[in-house]
Amino acid sequence: MTSEKCVECGSFLKVYDINFQTGRKVMRCEQCGLLHIYKKDILGRWRIVRATRPMPHEQKQKEES
Ligand SMILES: [Zn+2]
Repeated sequence: MTSEKCVECGSFLKVYDINFQTGRKVMRCEQCGLLHIYKKDILGRWRIVRATRPMPHEQKQKEES
């Protein structure tokens, strides 16, 4: 596995969801919670598609706790 890093804070990402059939995976930043969507290219390498914030209600739960 490669060690992808967060585009915002540079922390290491943890596998959040992976689907080999569709060639998609989601990595989550342990530090800030940013989600990174990856897609496999024709050479079989993971390429980042976009980085996205998790659902608003998830952030709300974090703030309340
Ligand atoms: Zn981050």
